[in-house]
Amino acid sequence: MTAESFSNSRVRSHNLALILRAVRDHGAIHRARLAVELGLTRTSVTRLVTELLRVGILVEDASVIGARGRPATPLSFNNQRWALLGVEARADHTDVVLTALSGEELASEAFTFELPIAPEQFARRVIGVGTQMIEESGRQLLGAGIALPARFSEGFQTVTQSARFGWGEVDVLDLVHRQLGHAIPIAMRDISRAAALANARHPELADYGRILHFQLGMGLGMALTAGQELNDSLPTSWGAIEHSPLGDPSVLCQCGRHGCVDASIGFARFQELTVPIVGYVPVGPSTIEDHTRAVAAAATDGDVRAQKAIDHLTQLLVSVLATVSSIVMPEAITIGGYPLLLGPEFLEEFSKRLTEESPTPVPVLESPYGDNASRRGTAMLALDAYVDSL
Ligand SMILES: [Zn+2]
Repeated sequence: MTAESFSNSRVRSHNLALILRAVRDHGAIHRARLAVELGLTRTSVTRLVTELLRVGILVEDASVIGARGRPATPLSFNNQRWALLGVEARADHTDVVLTALSGEELASEAFTFELPIAPEQFARRVIGVGTQMIEESGRQLLGAGIALPARFSEGFQTVTQSARFGWGEVDVLDLVHRQLGHAIPIAMRDISRAAALANARHPELADYGRILHFQLGMGLGMALTAGQELNDSLPTSWGAIEHSPLGDPSVLCQCGRHGCVDASIGFARFQELTVPIVGYVPVGPSTIEDHTRAVAAAATDGDVRAQKAIDHLTQLLVSVLATVSSIVMPEAITIGGYPLLLGPEFLEEFSKRLTEESPTPVPVLESPYGDNASRRGTAMLALDAYVDSL
């Protein structure tokens, strides 16, 4: 390839990616608007779109005929031909989800693994099920997205550690590629980033260019968005704040220090404080949900211990987020994980107190996806992986 044709092919890939991102963000869009929005000529939009129509990633709605008899057909994703595979590994369950390119779920299955689990075994199980879903859907796989409770090397190429799964350094992408084939683009992030990505792209939140997402489960994490993308200029370790000493100083963390955020407001701590209220320890894939909802119901019924536990969590969360947001300066905050299961009153109260305690108040927004934001995020990671591979 000559230098000129290489550079032309780079431009072409870049423009194809721009078109797919525009379709992703608009749902359905006309060629004319694409040209205006992307600053491309009509001719080059037509050429690029023709290419995407030929491989079947886009379709045009032939039923719409514009004025003067010329076709003014909006373009949208071809939801019949291709699919995206998502794997979302949460603290108490792992979901495998197959979605159409527009995000509509075609199939899903939930697993509970006995931990620790060998990475090879994990990949074999979830991708085995995913592969079967793809076959049954009659579609081809365009890309895969994986969200894990883990830390990653720079560039999110390998997992460096997952305390939850008992993993050290693991080349998860290689394990998944071996199952799906090396041609399939795959992207991998932590749960917080997957959730933040979904939230940032939801039309209701699209006006906020800088959203701080705070995720609470068995572990904690946060992520920051930039426009409708993740702020990937931050190091991969950004957001791994489990052992920041911003929590309750009277609580001893297993790392040997006092006041770690995880030890103070992680689900394990909340459960420890509220087991006597619920009276039993739930097991299975909805452990966190069952337990949290039981505490919320007890509080609603007037159980003072449950009300106190929720109040304690609220206060600690406010103090952590008031500090973090004064440093990070987000335009909005979203929360994910078990606190959402405490109901809308929790978020309302939390938001009110955060406003009172923050030097620069930041709106707390409810994710339209609720606690499913990271699950939705896996499909977006998959589509991004494909677009980035062009
Ligand atoms: Zn600690």
